[in-house]
Amino acid sequence: MRRAGKRVLLAAPRGYCAGVDRAVIAVEKALEQYGAPIYVRHEIVHNKYVVRTLEKKGAIFVDKTAEVPEGSIVMFSAHGVAPVVHEEAAERRLATIDATCPLVTKVHKEAVRFANEDYDILLIGHDGHEEVIGTSGEAPDHITLVDGPGDVAGVEVRDESKVVWLSQTTLSVDETMETVDALKQKFPQLISPPSDDICYATQNRQIAVKQMGADADLVIVVGSKNSSNSVRLVEVALGAGAGASHLVDGADEIDEAWLEGVSTVGLTSGASVPEVLVEGVLEWLSQRGFEDVEIVKAAEESITFSLPKELRRDLRAEAAALAEK
Ligand code: SF4
Repeated sequence: MRRAGKRVLLAAPRGYCAGVDRAVIAVEKALEQYGAPIYVRHEIVHNKYVVRTLEKKGAIFVDKTAEVPEGSIVMFSAHGVAPVVHEEAAERRLATIDATCPLVTKVHKEAVRFANEDYDILLIGHDGHEEVIGTSGEAPDHITLVDGPGDVAGVEVRDESKVVWLSQTTLSVDETMETVDALKQKFPQLISPPSDDICYATQNRQIAVKQMGADADLVIVVGSKNSSNSVRLVEVALGAGAGASHLVDGADEIDEAWLEGVSTVGLTSGASVPEVLVEGVLEWLSQRGFEDVEIVKAAEESITFSLPKELRRDLRAEAAALAEK
């Protein structure tokens, strides 16, 4: 039975971004074109459901290039890799497909350019995140990681007149600006990246959650725990005034107790989350009387990226030739 006053605020945009869409399709296309197995270094995108689905189709996810048998095809994930990983793959005679998101590649190129100009690069990001490891690997001697405002006091540079900040693509916009402000206090000549490093998808999903946060007693974010942009959405929801916010991989992880006294539920999903998981949560909520769904629209998204160019080649033949060398 439907209970009065219960509603869902559904964020738009939510879910898959152009980089994730491209990476997932790249694995599927590679499996279709070359057959299983296709090795993928690290999770292609940070989502359990996506990874399990691709595993069933024949993708094998590995942590290290050394785990991939010589002469195989390996794909690099959307988060990007350091140049040393390309070198390791060449040494193992692997045919490679690079599914790094073009917006991550943009940050890599910025890092290389500023390093060539001998800048000290302050990379704002989360210690240990794959994207940060990949970007840092482009210019390890020039990059210092700054993991939030608390790190700023300990940052040292060689020349205060040649310092630039860059960032991970999936950070909280507000928290990043706090870190930048603290860095600017310390290094007044700090220069900013030529364009936003935090990507359009991360920003749009945060704007939508901000718009709904104050009206929501509870915000449910669909996403995996290791998905940086999904975790940020929980923080942004709480910062915007949501009564509570939780990250779930799917409807089966929602705790009934979260709904106590709740009449408005905000719902969104991270950039690596397929819509089917959001539909599952909507269904779960509908069964509990939350049938009215209002869209909270922050932006239109129409960006798409072309598939990795390597998919146009006969990589099985290349891998076989490499293995014979
Ligand atoms: S979140 Fe942004 S940077 Fe990451 S894959 Fe998506 S579009 Fe690319």
